[in-house]
Amino acid sequence: MACTAPSMTIESYPEGVATGTSTPGEQTGLLRGRRRRHSFHSARRLSCDYDADAVFLRVELFLAELERRMHWIEEYRKSHMMQVDASLKRAYATLEAVRDSCSHASGELMGGGKKRAKILVETLEDRYNDALATKETLEQKAQAGVRLMESFLSELESRAHAVRGRGVYGALDDGWKAVDSTLVHAREVVDEGMERARRAKEALRESIDHAIQQAQKHRLIAYADLPHPWRVNPHILHGYRFHSSKIECMTSVFTFSNELVNIWSHLIGLFIVLSIAFYFYPLHTNFHVSTNADVMIAAVFFFAACKCLVCSTLWHTMNSIASQTLMERFACVDYTGISMLVAASIVTTEYTAFYCEPRSRWIYILLTMSLGIGGVILPWHPTFNRHDMAWARVAFYVSLALTGFAPIAQLTYTRGFAWCIYFYAPVMKSILVYFIGALIYASQVPERWRPGLFDYVGGSHNIWHFAVLGGILFHYCAMQDLFAGAFQRAQGECPNLSA
Ligand SMILES: [Zn+2]
Repeated sequence: MACTAPSMTIESYPEGVATGTSTPGEQTGLLRGRRRRHSFHSARRLSCDYDADAVFLRVELFLAELERRMHWIEEYRKSHMMQVDASLKRAYATLEAVRDSCSHASGELMGGGKKRAKILVETLEDRYNDALATKETLEQKAQAGVRLMESFLSELESRAHAVRGRGVYGALDDGWKAVDSTLVHAREVVDEGMERARRAKEALRESIDHAIQQAQKHRLIAYADLPHPWRVNPHILHGYRFHSSKIECMTSVFTFSNELVNIWSHLIGLFIVLSIAFYFYPLHTNFHVSTNADVMIAAVFFFAACKCLVCSTLWHTMNSIASQTLMERFACVDYTGISMLVAASIVTTEYTAFYCEPRSRWIYILLTMSLGIGGVILPWHPTFNRHDMAWARVAFYVSLALTGFAPIAQLTYTRGFAWCIYFYAPVMKSILVYFIGALIYASQVPERWRPGLFDYVGGSHNIWHFAVLGGILFHYCAMQDLFAGAFQRAQGECPNLSA
């Protein structure tokens, strides 16, 4: 799957495996306890409270399970969670500490169970003394400790499953917080967490159904009618489409909505760029003295510009689809288009700056291309697309753009600062346009000042679209200047500059 952002790829946790193996009812933990609350279950548990061997056996079985369940949670964390805050780290570190310290005591047959129970209790007391303070004997503490840890694991696992159901970022993060803050009532937290996740999932489904109904009735709906994952800009109040099929999304391109300007600005822009690439560029004087490599570099720029415009048009056409997974995938597609355009534009400057120095040329081009590839991959990460990450996204693209100035040091050293200024002057116009557009995009101006007034025309995203198109056209002009300068320097086959 190209994009992991919206759909969580979690392996399902088979009931039989999740709930333990050989001693059903005793060692199975809270997951099964939740499902089966028969009276004999409680009675058996009580009878074991006073049986030391049974407690130690339970500890053994729990530790055997812990390794595998932790592995599953770790795999999940790696692929779905960027950061863990301090309190969450503490809970997770406890599980890890118990696993690690108890694994050191493995392999002992005689008294091994008791020793590991002791280590488990000591490790827990180190961190959560309160939770075990009321218990007196090692057996009681061990049993309480196992229950506590099982509640940690069960909570995390159920949250992870809920994330898959909800497809909402950060739910696992919430799960960690819940675990740590409600240690004393761990059992209640598990049930509550499951209930909350179920309610959230249901609420989302209901709000999607409601939005579809509203859209069928009124064609366009208000921001307040949008389900939460579709809410991007709270200052654009009306004019939203919401469709249950892709065909409806496609045909809505020809109807009036708050995406009309966004869609057509880049669709018309695409035809403009294509006409330049296939008509105006071949007529230019530069084209007639270009080598195949020169034409290839120009082609990379044209391709990236077209890809950016196509991806953007696709996103704005399809962002009304009533499937969260699909909607978020199209958002990823939009971002990858921008990254490629920025990287390809920078490549044209590097290629012409070091026209006669192939070694430097390829080093800089490879640097930019690898960053560009990073920019194509990054948007598929869930955190990157979050509503509150607009500034982070802008920061990434601005830094990617700034890498275009990486050759300045070398150019200043070899040819002087004045030469650098002269060389970069043509591209300043497009950089300025992109930069101002990006600032407007992130700050949601002007609609932030008069919400509702710029719903259909004149909003920050409309301005951003024209900035992108303007940036492309300005960069095309700059690229022609850069090539003209490079050809001039290359007369006599790059006499003094070969690397
Ligand atoms: Zn856009």
